[in-house]
Amino acid sequence: MTDTAQYGFDTLQVHAGARPDPATGARQTPIYQTTAYVFRDADHAAALFNLQEVGYIYSRLTNPTVAVLQERIATLEGGAGAVCCSSGHAAQILALFPLMGPGRNVVASTRLYGGTVTQFSQTIKRFGWSAKFVDFDDLDAVKAAIDDDTRAIFCEALANPGGYITDLDAIAPIAEEAGLPLIVDNTSGTPYLCRPIDYGATLVVHSATKFLTGNGTVTGGAIVDSGTFDWSASGKFPSLSEPEPAYHGLKFHETFGPLAFTFHSIAVGLRDLGMTMNPQGAHYTLMGIETLSLRMQRHVENAVKVASWLETHPAVEAVTYAGLPSSPYHERVARICPKGAGALFTFALKAGYEACVKLVDSVELFSHVANLGDTRSLIIHSASTTHRQLTPEQLEAAGAAPNVVRLSIGIEDADDLIADLDQALAKATA
Ligand SMILES: *Cc1c(COP(=O)(O)O)cnc(C)c1O
Repeated sequence: MTDTAQYGFDTLQVHAGARPDPATGARQTPIYQTTAYVFRDADHAAALFNLQEVGYIYSRLTNPTVAVLQERIATLEGGAGAVCCSSGHAAQILALFPLMGPGRNVVASTRLYGGTVTQFSQTIKRFGWSAKFVDFDDLDAVKAAIDDDTRAIFCEALANPGGYITDLDAIAPIAEEAGLPLIVDNTSGTPYLCRPIDYGATLVVHSATKFLTGNGTVTGGAIVDSGTFDWSASGKFPSLSEPEPAYHGLKFHETFGPLAFTFHSIAVGLRDLGMTMNPQGAHYTLMGIETLSLRMQRHVENAVKVASWLETHPAVEAVTYAGLPSSPYHERVARICPKGAGALFTFALKAGYEACVKLVDSVELFSHVANLGDTRSLIIHSASTTHRQLTPEQLEAAGAAPNVVRLSIGIEDADDLIADLDQALAKATA
């Protein structure tokens, strides 16, 4: 598929980036299970190594199966290019890598996936980077947190664990005015529900582990580059605007224009950090994306049904799902994710910690796992699992109070999911 502009989302999720295999005519994208590629001759090899010609050298950098997935994700997100990598967490490091340096910081939303909070508050310090966490509903606080060392603004579109939608319409102009790239984690939204680049995001990151693959088989990640950011305007992004010593002084922005970030992430990021996606993983994710819109429609439909039912249950204190009219973020659905508020949400029981533990032990159809975005419905009690090291105050701040349970609603029959929760709630509160 060459001209993608004329096609709708459902067509692009099946076809974008793919073409019949030039060697065999194979209609499905082959898994190119190879480490290296034969050079035509020494001149060809030299041109590839100098980035004068685009082609395949070694699968740590590029692979034809992974390349199809990159083009497909870039197309669905409306970006200029994309780079796939080994996990969602790898995507976050790769996204920050060309922007940051010792002493630099990222201004990040307080409402992030728990693993991202740990990566940003602890691990990136080892690189001399830091994160400043602020409430992204407080626009003045976001502006005030930006200083001369800030190199990126980071948030999730539909924030994990649920009920929160970032007002990208309000955040993107703040990043633009500050001359900083806005990075949006769109894992929970997927490009079917939300396209952050349409609102002004510079980069979109994904954990392909979740809804993109959709069935709990793969660990993978992606970074989509909008291609719209001027990396040379401020002098703040020398990795992209200044001569790169490892490529004979090549300047990425000057040479590759809107694909500067994408080329840098492959030629320097993957080359030297090595967080590569394997071709088998790319194949599974391509399979998953073929049905993305169909699955997301059902995920959302089921989430609305289950959340609405839970809200009326006498044992339930509260349900935080932006798809419910009772949510303070309900107004943002029509603006930011008009096809639905995703399939992740939390609910609180009137009874406390022990009842939640009994609940996760009593479900039969829901699986008690630390994952989300699966065809199967998943449940977790954060306070006794992923967040058990936190203090009561930290639990409250993370939206993971002792009586809160998180659901990731799958694509099963909604009536069966409700029946399962009904019997488990009866046991938990008996
Ligand atoms: C799971 C997740 C990540 C991390 O992705 P991995 O593939 O597990 O490394 C990052 N952000 C969000 C929103 C996630 O749900």
